[in-house]
Amino acid sequence: MFEYLPERPLEPPEEKPIAYCDYCGGEIYEGETVYNIDGQLIHEDCLHDFADDYFKDCKEEAVSYAEAYC
Ligand SMILES: [Zn+2]
Repeated sequence: MFEYLPERPLEPPEEKPIAYCDYCGGEIYEGETVYNIDGQLIHEDCLHDFADDYFKDCKEEAVSYAEAYC
């Protein structure tokens, strides 16, 4: 079985973060996919947690309205 072990990890030439994630505070590098929400930069991976916070006022327990017509 051929084992692929790169001698060194691939690193982008530009290592300086261009911004920081407004959710986790982590570094954002050039070329990375981020969400720009009202001027806040959010990692793609952080979007779910961020959205959970951001839309917390919209969050509610699902109610069956069908019962109201009984
Ligand atoms: Zn993040």
